[in-house]
Amino acid sequence: MAAPLAGQAGVVLRDLALRSARLRGGFPAVQLTPRRWLNLQEYQSKKIMADHGVTVQRFFVADSANDALEAAQRLKAKEIVLKAQILAGGRGKGIFNSGLRGGVHLTKDPKTVEQLAKQMIGYNLSTKQTPKDGVTVKKVMVAEALDISRETYFAILMDRACNGPVMVGSPQGGVDIEEVAVTSPELIFKEEIDIFEGIKDRQALQMAKNLGFQGPLQQQAADQIKKLYNLFLKIDATQVEVNPFGETPEGQVVCFDAKINFDDNAEFRQKEIFAMDDKSENEPIENEAAKYDLKYIGLDGNIACFVNGAGLAMATCDIISLNGGKPANFLDLGGGVKEAQVYQAFKLLTTDPKVEAILVNIFGGIVNCAIIANGITKACRELGLKVPLVVRLEGTNVQEAQRILSESGLPITSAKDLEDAAKKAVASVAKK
Ligand code: GDP
Ligand code: MN
Repeated sequence: MAAPLAGQAGVVLRDLALRSARLRGGFPAVQLTPRRWLNLQEYQSKKIMADHGVTVQRFFVADSANDALEAAQRLKAKEIVLKAQILAGGRGKGIFNSGLRGGVHLTKDPKTVEQLAKQMIGYNLSTKQTPKDGVTVKKVMVAEALDISRETYFAILMDRACNGPVMVGSPQGGVDIEEVAVTSPELIFKEEIDIFEGIKDRQALQMAKNLGFQGPLQQQAADQIKKLYNLFLKIDATQVEVNPFGETPEGQVVCFDAKINFDDNAEFRQKEIFAMDDKSENEPIENEAAKYDLKYIGLDGNIACFVNGAGLAMATCDIISLNGGKPANFLDLGGGVKEAQVYQAFKLLTTDPKVEAILVNIFGGIVNCAIIANGITKACRELGLKVPLVVRLEGTNVQEAQRILSESGLPITSAKDLEDAAKKAVASVAKK
């Protein structure tokens, strides 16, 4: 049975509440957004959806105002919707640094499409989900606009708490869904799906009813929901979010927007989809790091964190903050580390102009500390390290690692534990 979440926190509700908290500025100091997940633009997600029988509007993609004009003429639509393509939501209410307001525009005139596209392409669009300066728009979607009589919210995601897929929906979809999740949690409906049995007809129908679809629209919405679930499974998605999942006055259920997240572990069997990966919005340094199988996440402080494991990374960022410093980034080495990777990691950190100190915090479980120590000393010698370096190593082969560091003759500050390391790193920056 579909039960409203009513206060009890499900993943989506938490996610939406988190997004909402961020909007209100009530978000914790260090915000970490892993960037290596596969990101697809709306037009790419909609192509996948169309291929799976999900109803989306006819569209073309353009990367110049002139192409947008041609696309608008080719569509031969009564009305056209022009949508800036960036990997963030909230576009409808976004603002361009060209002065244009709104990343989603409706017009009947192809010439207006051209004018609007001119003020979108090459400019930055900032929305409540982008960094402050926004994201440069390189492509626009030119689609046949449809009238919307009602906007609902529908998503399917892998939910840890449910140990499987769960559908989440609300009859009050659209641009203010985050607000709905906070102010009217009883309007968010959740329905778990047994991954072995698949989605049942009655479950899809119940969700369609909860979303407020009436009469023949109910069955149509249920069919769309089932198709979205099949797509979700087939492409190894971790989340498919459609907002608005809307209806038209002519009686059609349409996915007006699309956001799909993928399971990175499925890359080996989803080669076509992963080949569509749009890395153009990543910082170049993130792409460079990914080449060497390193995870790099940029932050806005001045102390670089060189760690292994996301948990240790967050703990390191926290303890730097607690000691009055600010992390510049974190670079996660992961498990099976090779000396060459350590070298590349150092190279990346030292080429970042905002880095004024480096804190190495490695716990050698699988990782052999001596490999790290050799990588560090090699990198320091060859790259001519110019900023203070504080190292805390613990675990496998740590004595050998300490010996390598102390006999290297390099100006490396050793730290006995995490707290000590953070204090020394913060102090080294403060001295400058
Ligand atoms: P987002 O703001 O990034 O989530 O972008 P959306 O694709 O969801 O578009 C924002 C809003 O524009 C939607 O909630 C709709 O209200 C509206 N919109 C988008 N496409 C159409 C369309 O084809 N017709 C109409 N009438 N409105 C649309
Ligand atoms: Mn949307």
